[in-house]
Amino acid sequence: MNDTILVVEDEEKLARLLARYLEQAGFSVHQIHNGLEATPWIRQHQPDLVLLDLMLPGADGLDICREVRSFSHVPIIMVTARVEEIDRLLGLELGADDYICKPYSPREVVARVRAVLRRMSPTAAMENTTTLQLREDQLLVMAGTKSMELTAVEFHLLQTLSQSAGRIYSRDQLMDRIYADRRIVSERTIDSHIKKLRRKLTELLPGQDVIQSVYGVGYKYDPTG
Ligand code: CA
Repeated sequence: MNDTILVVEDEEKLARLLARYLEQAGFSVHQIHNGLEATPWIRQHQPDLVLLDLMLPGADGLDICREVRSFSHVPIIMVTARVEEIDRLLGLELGADDYICKPYSPREVVARVRAVLRRMSPTAAMENTTTLQLREDQLLVMAGTKSMELTAVEFHLLQTLSQSAGRIYSRDQLMDRIYADRRIVSERTIDSHIKKLRRKLTELLPGQDVIQSVYGVGYKYDPTG
């Protein structure tokens, strides 16, 4: 059976375009153009993933996301028209699984849908999951028999991200968690620590990329990456 994707999008032309790309990629697609219809449909049909626009007539994406989370773990990708909005959405901790900003390329959306579904699939996750062990007393990260020394900042970044795999953290949220006094750092500092951390992890896990950047948003840890 094909995975069913629900597209909640009031711009009907855009919804149709997206549906066409998703169908070509092998998904079954249902479109909803009014916010009020989304939750009842999800309850009744239990789709495999929901692409949820933020601004909708009837009920907005925030309310829909909250309502759906009260009865379902269905993966939700939120779609917003403004990249600045994503930081605010992250702060609300809605339980969405990914965020996409308009304008987007339908191909990118298909790729993100696949990535989220892959992450959710228990078998795929088990096959490829890398278990890293963290030794805080020695600031060491270990994979199998190999180990790597990290700086304190790198260690805490990895610890924060890996404790909630799949969750996207903005640079701001990472700064809050890592630094007692965040006035001393800038977003660029975070980027440069992440860059070094990723380089070390690639040495530890060749061919893998467990820390992923989410364009315009921040970073997440993906053990299957
Ligand atoms: Ca809209």
